[in-house]
Amino acid sequence: MSKQFAVIGLGRFGSSVAKELYDLHYEVMAIDINEERIQENVNVVTHCVQADSTDETALKALGIRNFDVVVVAIGQNIQASILTTILLKELGVETIVVKAQNQLHAKVLYKIGASKVVFPERDMGARVAHNLVTPNILDY
Ligand code: ATP
Repeated sequence: MSKQFAVIGLGRFGSSVAKELYDLHYEVMAIDINEERIQENVNVVTHCVQADSTDETALKALGIRNFDVVVVAIGQNIQASILTTILLKELGVETIVVKAQNQLHAKVLYKIGASKVVFPERDMGARVAHNLVTPNILDY
């Protein structure tokens, strides 16, 4: 069976991750607290659900522990990002990928059990720079 993904937070980063996984034919559940964000993404993922990811009962009701990978793409609200990550860990999610705002945020995320922490702008900037000086690169 192919991997099942959940993406929490449908800003530019989260919605792009969710849409790309869905386009690659994976099952994707997208979660956001904001109804407008749900409406914007309802046609680009398998399921789109309005919920507060800092609410343990809501996460349990969504069966979040059954997903192979959960991406936490909550940016600005560091508290919500940390609370969500710790709940996912406690609920037994195997792989948790989290977007961080800064180094300290990343440090906390690793300490509480994040599998991987990403800095989309920084990581993409480094990738673009490498690709600019490497000939014959097809992607950017
Ligand atoms: P990007 O740069 O990717 O656009 P961002 O860093 O500006 O995103 P935010 O806009 O802060 O990130 O958060 C991304 C999304 O996370 C928003 O759509 C927001 O509604 C959602 N979000 C914030 N808190 C929660 C929460 N507790 N539960 C679910 N979704 C949440």
